Amino acid sequence: MASQEIEALSGALARLPGLGPRSARRAVLWLIKRRETALPQLLNALTQVQELLVECDTCGNVDTTNPCGICTDSRRDQRSICVVEEVADLWALDRARLFTGKYHVLGGRLSALEGVRPEDLTIGQLLDRVNQGGIDEVVLAMNATLEGQTTAHYIAERLEDAPVRVTQLAHGLPVGGELDYLDEGTLAQALRARRPVG
Ligand SMILES: [Zn+2]
Repeated sequence: MASQEIEALSGALARLPGLGPRSARRAVLWLIKRRETALPQLLNALTQVQELLVECDTCGNVDTTNPCGICTDSRRDQRSICVVEEVADLWALDRARLFTGKYHVLGGRLSALEGVRPEDLTIGQLLDRVNQGGIDEVVLAMNATLEGQTTAHYIAERLEDAPVRVTQLAHGLPVGGELDYLDEGTLAQALRARRPVG
């Protein structure tokens, strides 16, 4: 029978994506064995995240400033916005400097199954950004899943009357492929070969 403290930490870790109760318990034991070395590092990193990181009101990125470093970077192409589902997708695309414009993070994807509706995502904010003008191209970089593609179609429809070119990642993307898991070569290829929606 584990102590209350261990149960509490295991329980908190088990809620993390990709970790179940079993791996959470193993992680806790690993940390306890390294309480002098790894634990302070982890505590420090967690505190930094809590104290310093904020969500960008413009694009939804997570950074130490709001607006974020990407939104305020004047060397970037101000006229194109790449729309992604999650911050992790933004990071995947930006890691290799594949895209030089700005981003927009939706905060998820439309899902009838999970009850995610358009108003649950930042689609309204995206339309506002486009309607403010100065944007030439919106690149829809949703995952190659059914829900990702449904979301892309929905946004493309909403942008139909806007004076922007709406493009979509080429489907060299494997079906079911999530951006975050793709290697940079595949991502670069999908981005280079992007095509108009419709
Ligand atoms: Zn931003």
